[in-house]
Amino acid sequence: MKLWQDVPVRKFIIMGVQASGKGTQAKVLCADFDLVHMSVGDIFRWNIQHHTKLGAHVKRIVASGRLVDDDVVASVIRERLAEHDWNYGFVIDGFPRNAAQAEFFLESYDIDGVINLELPDREVERRVLSRRLCSGCGLDYNLIAHRPEVEGVCDVCASSLVVRPDDNPEALASRLRDYHDKTAPVIAIFQRKEFVASIDATRSKEQIQADIRERFELRPRA
Ligand SMILES: [Zn+2]
Repeated sequence: MKLWQDVPVRKFIIMGVQASGKGTQAKVLCADFDLVHMSVGDIFRWNIQHHTKLGAHVKRIVASGRLVDDDVVASVIRERLAEHDWNYGFVIDGFPRNAAQAEFFLESYDIDGVINLELPDREVERRVLSRRLCSGCGLDYNLIAHRPEVEGVCDVCASSLVVRPDDNPEALASRLRDYHDKTAPVIAIFQRKEFVASIDATRSKEQIQADIRERFELRPRA
């Protein structure tokens, strides 16, 4: 009989700027290693869809153009971890958001590593500014990776494709500045513990995933 103690529990944090493929990488890793993907963004979306108190709070803040408080993000992750449904481990996505949260987290949990997906700002710009959204069915397009068959027209519903209002160079530059300002101290704290794997995210999805597994010596269970 295999005891649960024999199975390694893997605990990761994944970090990366928007358009770095963070969500995709976390999902593939979780599916193959039975880890729980704890995504702050997904938890917020679920709460909004299910009209919870937290959902109403998040919706109000986002509508006013602000970011959800770091404290709220921290309590969401704490509660998620307290569910203890992560027998084989987890990948946390969207937390910690500042140095204090990173320190607190390290006092309460051992983690195996931080996956830091690195994408140069100019590549983020190229990817984000090529995004298009169908005004009819809401399908996402990308003029680099997923072009519509007819320029400016949705393949599925033939409605016109539009740019999201906040996908403009000025708004993106401000989001990037904010991201770097907030994450640099967090990465520095984790680096002191020597468990940050910086991964070049300019490559293909498969190459990135293979690199993550190699860096943490992850092999699927037999
Ligand atoms: Zn459409």
